[in-house]
Amino acid sequence: MQNRRQFIKSSGKASIAIATLPIISKMSPATSVMASEYQQQPLPYAYAALEPAIDALTMEIHYTKHAATYAKNLADACVAEKVDSTITSLTDLLKNISHYSPKMRNNAGGHYNHELFWQLMKPTPAKAPTGALAEAITKTFGSLDAFKTTFGDAAKARFGSGWAWLLVKSDGSLAVSSTPNQDNPLMDMAETKGTPIVGLDVWEHAYYLKYQNKRPDYINAWWNLVNWEFAQKKYAEAITKK
Ligand code: MN
Repeated sequence: MQNRRQFIKSSGKASIAIATLPIISKMSPATSVMASEYQQQPLPYAYAALEPAIDALTMEIHYTKHAATYAKNLADACVAEKVDSTITSLTDLLKNISHYSPKMRNNAGGHYNHELFWQLMKPTPAKAPTGALAEAITKTFGSLDAFKTTFGDAAKARFGSGWAWLLVKSDGSLAVSSTPNQDNPLMDMAETKGTPIVGLDVWEHAYYLKYQNKRPDYINAWWNLVNWEFAQKKYAEAITKK
């Protein structure tokens, strides 16, 4: 009898969905968490919840069109390139992304980045981080305001579409970087590699309806939405894993 992997290998794309179905129901909680990372999750607030900094129509189009498309194209690329989301975590896929197609790179990055971005914003958040993240930011950049300037400069200087990041490098230190398109610091070709803690989408689709060409105004308004509690959680996880 063929095992599942041999069956998938020998039976072509059309059979993969059918072959996968009975397996999903037998997944352990750990593997189902991994598989859900590949799917778009519900937005944690209403489209209008981040106004006035981000308007409801921008949020709705961003979530239901742009981000939803990355998730769908990621699923298609996983079928085409035989990535099993119950076996390979999204993080591990991104860390080896140079071995996959541009479609996989753009959409795995696009999906990961947006899922993180939604969580990193909330209506009326704390004004500043506390605890270990606050200490690390002060130690690295001098102050929270100095960090915001460095991060904002990276976001403004990104030519065309991309992201600005606060990340934890493999030695545990903090750094600011920016990446083009839907790349991120987890990717093996990233100039500055590490675990993203805070990310800002500076694609025009994220701000053009309200801010038009004024990216700096969008960046300044966005600081009022940063979910520092979530960033603190990401930082604690990154430091523990390193
Ligand atoms: Mn976006």
